[in-house]
Amino acid sequence: MQWEAVIGLEVHVQLATKSKIFSGASTAFGAEPNTQACAVDLGLPGVLPVLNAEAVRMAVMFGLGIHAHINQTNIFARKNYFYPDLPKGYQTSQMDLPIVGQGYVDIPLESGEIKRIGVTRAHLEEDAGKSLHEDFHGMTGIDLNRAGTPLLEIVSEPDLRSATEAVAYLKYIHGLIRYLGISDGNMAQGSMRCDANVSIRPKGETTLGTRAEIKNVNSFRFIEKAINYEIERQIDVLEAGNKVVQETRLYDSERDETRSMRGKEEANDYRYFPCPDLLPVVITDEDLQSIRNGLPELPEQKRQRFMDAFKLSEYDATILSEERETAEYFEQVATQCDDAKLAANWMMGELAARLNKNNLEITESPVPADRLAKLLSRLKDQTINGKGAKAAFEALWEGADDVDAVIEAKGLKQVTDTNAIAAIVDEIIAQHPEQVEQYKAADDAKRKKMIGFFVGQVMKASKGSANPGQVNQLLQQKLS
Ligand code: ADP
Ligand code: MG
Repeated sequence: MQWEAVIGLEVHVQLATKSKIFSGASTAFGAEPNTQACAVDLGLPGVLPVLNAEAVRMAVMFGLGIHAHINQTNIFARKNYFYPDLPKGYQTSQMDLPIVGQGYVDIPLESGEIKRIGVTRAHLEEDAGKSLHEDFHGMTGIDLNRAGTPLLEIVSEPDLRSATEAVAYLKYIHGLIRYLGISDGNMAQGSMRCDANVSIRPKGETTLGTRAEIKNVNSFRFIEKAINYEIERQIDVLEAGNKVVQETRLYDSERDETRSMRGKEEANDYRYFPCPDLLPVVITDEDLQSIRNGLPELPEQKRQRFMDAFKLSEYDATILSEERETAEYFEQVATQCDDAKLAANWMMGELAARLNKNNLEITESPVPADRLAKLLSRLKDQTINGKGAKAAFEALWEGADDVDAVIEAKGLKQVTDTNAIAAIVDEIIAQHPEQVEQYKAADDAKRKKMIGFFVGQVMKASKGSANPGQVNQLLQQKLS
């Protein structure tokens, strides 16, 4: 049986407001426990919440960034449940009329295609406090500093078909919220968290299977692993003739497995009702227009500009525009070396590989944009060849800061002196009479393949310093 995975994500983004969504308490990260929660955040009797206009503005910015319908009248509701980190007994959230309605994002797939993922809705809500287990033997500590922090919950359609697609979607959302400046997207600090809903069905089937929801995974790598684990688990369950139960599961990164946490609650378990303390939120046409006018260039527009101005493929343009810092690095390299394709290839090849391997962000790259641009300029003006460029890049990665000095010190200068190369070519031809004979007897198509052997020999004899184009040309002349 061929199975197909179906995944929908609920992403919680902490909005970068200075104060909380319904109170003036600070949202700064890392304060002493319980020093930043006020009476409103705790829902003490007699308090009244006041909506933070900045949180509304940020939610609208997000909605515009995903082409969504903005509900210009939207309402807050109480979602009732008991949990130690929620002393109010309810979370103020949005249910029937969320601020952001249907929208979509276009994400890059590994195949080089672009896929459109539907966003069902995004709503504003407050965060709860935090339960702490580690430092308390046999007890649980409660830190309420996070209570009342504004969250935007972004709910996707079940349009994702693999863990890799889910990660591509998350990366797109991560890039977008940072372009918009509405969140720092710091996953390690919980500024962006993800619940993954996973089900499987026989390939070709159109109805959805029963899903499990994996709660609060906080890194791209763990989300990928958790989803893959869950897909395999569900396949095993179904193939053993059993049924997947709808439930909430927890991902344990140390054991790399998901475990059942509780049965899945339904919306009606929460007894949602409109919050009597908050008026409906009304966003005027003027508000909307002024927010629209204030939007920065977004990944999508940048993607289009990279395609138009730099003639990049849609896939390359998408990858390079996803995060603002990557896009800025690319633009600088492309402009300074005056070859966008070359800049794109090096960034997505050599540089990306190194950054990944060392778990570094582009902003932490030991090779800054101007240095990579200089290196690529030397490749373009034929001072060095591809092999020399890789060797020079290695030295730059290790900390060297002067490209020309590296080329000089490592003897990477390309030999473009025709006489010097011709001498090596003659030598190689004399050393391989048998191959020369075969080459001469071959037709054009075969010759094309065979010439690589000679080029390789000459390059080796020149210790990689010869200009491969020239070598090729000379060989063709001398062998014909
Ligand atoms: P909740 O989890 O709060 O009950 P929803 O029913 O709206 O909320 O679903 C939440 C998420 O689950 C959405 O992202 C949706 O796309 C996804 N989802 C719903 N049904 C399935 C399914 N059968 N398989 C995978 N994902 C699903
Ligand atoms: Mg859910």
